[in-house]
Amino acid sequence: MANQEENLQSIIAHAKEYGFIYPSSEIYDGLSATYDYGPLGVELKNLIKAYWWKSMVQMQENIVGLDAAIFMHPKTWEASGHTSAFNDPLIDNKDSKKRYRADVLIEDWVAKQEEKNNKEVEKARKRFGESFDEAQFRSTNGRVLDRQKKIDEALNKFKEAMDAEDLNAVRELIIELDIADPVSGSRNWTEVRQFNLMFSTDMGSTAEGASKVYLRPETAQGIFVNFLNVQKTSRMKIPFGIAQIGKAFRNEIIARQFIFRMREFEQMEMQFFVRPGTELEWYEQWKEERMKWHAALGFDDSYYRFHDHTKLAHYANAAADIEFKFPFGYKELEGIHSRTDFDLKQHEQHSGKKLQYFDPELNKSYVPYVIETSIGLDRMFLAVFSASYLQEKLEDGSERVVLKLPAKLSPYQAAILPLVKKDGLPEKAREIFDDLKQDFMLQYDEKDSIGKRYRRQDAIGTLLSITLDHQSLEDGSVTVRDRDSMEQERIPIANLKAYISNRLH
Ligand code: ATP
Repeated sequence: MANQEENLQSIIAHAKEYGFIYPSSEIYDGLSATYDYGPLGVELKNLIKAYWWKSMVQMQENIVGLDAAIFMHPKTWEASGHTSAFNDPLIDNKDSKKRYRADVLIEDWVAKQEEKNNKEVEKARKRFGESFDEAQFRSTNGRVLDRQKKIDEALNKFKEAMDAEDLNAVRELIIELDIADPVSGSRNWTEVRQFNLMFSTDMGSTAEGASKVYLRPETAQGIFVNFLNVQKTSRMKIPFGIAQIGKAFRNEIIARQFIFRMREFEQMEMQFFVRPGTELEWYEQWKEERMKWHAALGFDDSYYRFHDHTKLAHYANAAADIEFKFPFGYKELEGIHSRTDFDLKQHEQHSGKKLQYFDPELNKSYVPYVIETSIGLDRMFLAVFSASYLQEKLEDGSERVVLKLPAKLSPYQAAILPLVKKDGLPEKAREIFDDLKQDFMLQYDEKDSIGKRYRRQDAIGTLLSITLDHQSLEDGSVTVRDRDSMEQERIPIANLKAYISNRLH
């Protein structure tokens, strides 16, 4: 635990030191759960967006984009259920005065029990060696079975309590499971209360004429209310999708873990409209597609896992999360939901307008079913950043901090470094810089020793360091150092463009 916390703290410090992420309005001591992206951060964020957009829009003939407003008609949120049901159950600890989400306390308890069982399994695996049968062990080992029974009972009780909106039962479960405040260890809990997560503000210039509007808590509704506009103007035939990247706002009760849970964040969502009855096939297909998108970044498979939901939201008939191994454990990175025709039907009812599609093949109209893929851009940022952040011990005993970002997400593709600040090397380096800057994001650096400059580039994830020395002036060649392997190669300046492009693809 201490290690995880230390690791997260060094990631946060690194993100700040190199201009990726700053606390918002820091000179006023910051604003909780709100962050600003610095010069490096905005580059990485834009690259993640571009990687998503390319695979979800550019490479898909039947998916188009949208950029809807953050403010929407207040009826939108009545229709979607957010006004009445976008709540989290919260509980306070009377001693530490800390506030928690009751469901998160229970989920964390479950995760801890599962972790204990996994440890037993691993111990047994070591003991039995090749002949070990995990399924058999889990179904026969007394301790594992007992714990699993407790987990199942707790989850059942929790589900029943939430379905019955019985908040007292949720509190009793927390007490029964002997859950303590993770900060203070105290078990002195208040009642559980519901808390609406939407931010509201007034629209209009005078208080009397003003009406209450919400900052959207998800981008999806902008897609649903525009479903027919997009379908008609883009002449889309079902199945087709609408993709959108944009800000969303939630007044989160607990806002810890850096940019994992923010009050203002960005989502990358795609709603895929399909024929009723085909939605579960599409759901499986999108689960697979989205996992491939993650895998293509090249991090180890063990960073990802699916978590299929057993407790479904009122609008869904299937749902899964792609979880990522963050510095604080496996947590939701992306949600894939089969949302049925719930949203479009609700908007039909509340607006009185038809939101149907005429299917020429079936010769009839219907409200399409929807598969949603929804990923938090900031969470994706944290996933990529934390998995790329490494403290390496080198062969010569020294250490380096390196951001081994996937090539296509590295903010700078190359750094141009004249070995010394004289003898015409800076001038030649500038020439190369100007020649390549149309095609690549570059850094120019002539300050400090070359070793220090390499470390600086490693720390921000620059893919290649291109160094000019006296030989460069004689034979037009430079050395190129690779960030990951630290190997150096001498190549002609004339080949640089092709060389960098190759490394990128
Ligand atoms: P959680 O259970 O972690 O609160 P959620 O299930 O409410 O998330 P969704 O409503 O499915 O999340 O939103 C889709 C995606 O948006 C999430 O997978 C996550 O990546 C991102 N997201 C949601 N809330 C936040 C937040 N407060 N800060 C950053 N990203 C968020």
